[in-house]
Amino acid sequence: MAQTTPNHTQTVSGWAANDSSGKITPYVFKRRENGADDVTIEILYCGMCHTDIHHVKNDWGITMYPVVPGHEITGIITKVGSNVRKFKTGDKVGVGCLAATCLQCEFCKDSQENYCDEVQFTYNGIFWDGSITYGGYSKMLVADQRYVVRVPDSLPMDAAAPLLCAGITVYCPMKDHNLLEPDSAARKIGVVGLGGLGHVAVKFAKAFGHHVTVISTSPSKEKEAKVRLGADDFLLSTDAKLMQTRKRTLDFIVDTVSAKHSIGPLLELLKVKGTLVIVGAPEKPMELPSFPLIFGKRVVKGGIIGSIKETQEMMEVCGKRNIVCDIEVVQTEQINEALERLAKNDVKYRFVIDIAGK
Ligand code: NAP
Ligand code: ZN
Repeated sequence: MAQTTPNHTQTVSGWAANDSSGKITPYVFKRRENGADDVTIEILYCGMCHTDIHHVKNDWGITMYPVVPGHEITGIITKVGSNVRKFKTGDKVGVGCLAATCLQCEFCKDSQENYCDEVQFTYNGIFWDGSITYGGYSKMLVADQRYVVRVPDSLPMDAAAPLLCAGITVYCPMKDHNLLEPDSAARKIGVVGLGGLGHVAVKFAKAFGHHVTVISTSPSKEKEAKVRLGADDFLLSTDAKLMQTRKRTLDFIVDTVSAKHSIGPLLELLKVKGTLVIVGAPEKPMELPSFPLIFGKRVVKGGIIGSIKETQEMMEVCGKRNIVCDIEVVQTEQINEALERLAKNDVKYRFVIDIAGK
């Protein structure tokens, strides 16, 4: 059932899932009028994140149907509210996962609003006015200016779109571990899962001079990982013997895997005091064996996307260093096919929907 919220007077064409079948169909809905703090964005491109699949299929049991996915959005501002000073009509901008936060808690006040306990996301969230949020698989978006970032002129709008979620999600843990300073000492970094998030992690790590090991279930990705993305080493996680040969070699691992998998063998790859950051979000809980933790004084932690301040900073870094995603652009008629292929791990490395079709 379409929601009816006062002030939601603008009709928008989009694409929504109505049930957990995994299929998307055209969907016409309403968005709010452009408020004083809002900007209206004509959406040009939207990346397809694995989180979209988790929502479309209700993997996490939290989907409010109909759901209009999409939180890797780039577009052009077509309208600004009376309080908006940061942006003007015609600006190239991006919107990621955040739609609203409480603005008052310690995290909101400290530019870490992605950790606000009342965070509401770009889709399947509940906005301040009580309406359910609809994402970027749609022609137009109204966003509060606080959650909008500028896309540097040097970045292409299609290949930059996945930076808004995939990019920032791997940028933050690496930044938190001082791996992304211009003078960072070279470290040995592992990237688990060479998909949307993973391939950007490899790019960041290589851009800052680190030694990168890709840990993957797909033998077919080895050549590209090394030749195209510049990875230094490639481990098939299914090859237990090979994994053994790399015990205690890595300083830091980012795990981007979307499905349940074994954490123990990954921990064994870490040096003593090494850190594993889990950013993938499998629907089933994963086992955390204590032995590799206690014998190696290792740390396991997580992280969710990044703040708007960090996202803007990352966009500038990408603009300066020419870091963009490896994408396959699809038309809106191909969304279902792309969702199926993404579920089957058949994408190198991110589908981006050509929403405007210009
Ligand atoms: P993706 O493009 O589908 O990549 C996931 C990769 O995981 C695949 O390419 C595959 O890499 C590996 N993989 C898939 N199934 C596997 C299995 N059964 N066992 C082992 N490895 C498997 O997905 P994505 O868009 O990068 O997203 C990855 C995960 O991060 C999703 O769960 C998503 O919801 C989550 N996420 C979290 C955040 C956050 O803020 N924390 C933000 C965005 C996304 P190989 O072929 O190399 O094995
Ligand atoms: Zn995402």
